[in-house]
Amino acid sequence: MTSIAVCPGSFDPVTLGHLDIITRGASVFDKVIVAVLHNRNKQPMFTVEERVSLLYEATKDLKNVEVDSFNGLLIDYVKEKKANTIIRGLRAVSDFEYEMQAASINKKLGPDIETFFMMTNNHYSYLSSSIVKEVAKYNADVSDIVPDVVAEALKTKFK
Ligand code: ADP
Repeated sequence: MTSIAVCPGSFDPVTLGHLDIITRGASVFDKVIVAVLHNRNKQPMFTVEERVSLLYEATKDLKNVEVDSFNGLLIDYVKEKKANTIIRGLRAVSDFEYEMQAASINKKLGPDIETFFMMTNNHYSYLSSSIVKEVAKYNADVSDIVPDVVAEALKTKFK
């Protein structure tokens, strides 16, 4: 059986913390589909198309990683893709409460689908897309916390 995992998120924009989770996931599963969520209450900085394109560039050397976007319920998307696992990263205790709720409801809606948690790499435990945007707004250097292509895109946004 081919193991297919979906790694969902906002990725607004993708950081090296995300990339670490995606890369490690790609060494565990036959295929990883990184899926950008469309309808979120948050007001994103990058459009879905821009986020997909940045992810595509950042992951192009990972041969078993695909990038996509989806609308609606995650579990429906996972079933549609014939995937058996959802990958999520955990940073701090603050992530835990939400992730436990999400994993519980997803287990109820799709009993055959597992949520697979990966602990953050210590280097990136403080890193989030929000922090990146905050720092980039003031023209600070973000080259060691985001892929090069994202650093360029942020420069253009804040020009
Ligand atoms: P969401 O809004 O769904 O949480 P994000 O883009 O913020 O989307 O995150 C997508 C996934 O990546 C989540 O599982 C999140 O916990 C994980 N993640 C984000 N940043 C890091 C990081 N620095 N280290 C490990 N996992 C991370």
